Amino acid sequence: MNEQPADISEHTLSAIEGIGWPAVPGREGASLLAVLFQLEQSQWWPAEKLHAHQLGQIEKLCHFAHQHIPYLSKRLEAAGIGQHKPLSEEAWRELPILTRDELQKSGTKLQCTEPPKGHGRTSQSTTTGSTGKPVSVSRTELSAFYWTAFTLRDHIWRKRDLSATFATIRYDRSARAAYPDGIESDNWGSPAALFRTGPAAKLTITTPVADQGEWLARQNAAYLSTNPSNLGELLRLSEESGVRYPSLREVQTLSEVLDPALRAQCRRLWGIEIADMYSTQETGYIALQCPETENYHVQSECALIEILDGDSTPCQPGEVGRVVVTPLHNFATPLLRYDIGDYAEVGAPCPCGRGLPVLTRIMGRARAMLTLPDGSRSWPLMGGSRFAEIAPVRQYQFVQKSRQAIEARLVVERPLNEQEEEALRERMLARLGHPFEIKLSYVKKIERQAGEKYEEFKSEL
Ligand SMILES: [Zn+2]
Repeated sequence: MNEQPADISEHTLSAIEGIGWPAVPGREGASLLAVLFQLEQSQWWPAEKLHAHQLGQIEKLCHFAHQHIPYLSKRLEAAGIGQHKPLSEEAWRELPILTRDELQKSGTKLQCTEPPKGHGRTSQSTTTGSTGKPVSVSRTELSAFYWTAFTLRDHIWRKRDLSATFATIRYDRSARAAYPDGIESDNWGSPAALFRTGPAAKLTITTPVADQGEWLARQNAAYLSTNPSNLGELLRLSEESGVRYPSLREVQTLSEVLDPALRAQCRRLWGIEIADMYSTQETGYIALQCPETENYHVQSECALIEILDGDSTPCQPGEVGRVVVTPLHNFATPLLRYDIGDYAEVGAPCPCGRGLPVLTRIMGRARAMLTLPDGSRSWPLMGGSRFAEIAPVRQYQFVQKSRQAIEARLVVERPLNEQEEEALRERMLARLGHPFEIKLSYVKKIERQAGEKYEEFKSEL
């Protein structure tokens, strides 16, 4: 059993005190405060208790979907989930997995135009993801409210100083966050419903990295939020130019797979930690990094996360499987057992004592997997973040062309000599577990995918 702190309310108060007292809350702020107190408690619940609460909420979601969404009614009935029957674990496991392809093809058939009244208005959210195939979901105000609550949980877990400046370098849909100014705001956005915060600033990730560095130096920010690949670029620039950002206290990463080597590089160069998070536009938060370890805690209060093997059996600690998500609060598009296309590794219970389930690694998409000549597959670590120690490599991407051959696309500052090429090949092969034929090719630029994700490795098999 997990140990609870001696006095939960004391713990909650000190967590909130640690980041500054809230402003006198308005209606949304008061609701947020109530949810935060609840989250402070539920994180310590044993896993079984959390799961029982999840099933109770999913039962409501299924009954609603059965009644209002014909596309889902048949699916639910076939699994033995009816409107008046309590939901059993067995019936839930019978429900077919919803693939991204199916979500995309179903158009608006999975959407309900009239979610429960108390859930507020709906809005459409479209995401392209790393495959470039757009999917659309309709979301309620209630699900947006929960998004904010979990954003705040992350700030509380990390004990962030909300009065400081928060800088973001990410994809900018509005196309307003262009260099040299970006967009400035006098608060952190949604957390300001409850807390008085300092200013925030945003720059689009498509800005050349040298300009990003110059912009970042001007912000005097305590926190930076960006994609891992972009952080890698900033660190490389910082190493070369000697420029540091002394005001930075932490980097938040999201959207892409985080290579553990980047954590070490960030510590070594800037002396600060990375806090990684795992979310998608269509599902909301999936997991946040534990405040005390490098584990990821599944956000069980807002989503049921199943990690399933090839036979759709739940994975045990140490095993890797597909990430199947059921967001608990979005009744406008009930995503029941949605396979988001990522893989993750299940972990043992976290030493911090939280009952929230653990993921130890998030490995990304199936097409980011390496296929060995015998057909077995794995997630490659090509050691790219350390290429700059060997040769002036600006950017890299690996493309598996066949079971024997990998193309390494490189953006370089100047032509490489033979020794440098050989040393790079050796560094790549050292991690792969098979003597692949590695062809180096030189390109001017490696484009980000739609949605501004960057694929370090992709397979064309
Ligand atoms: Zn933990």
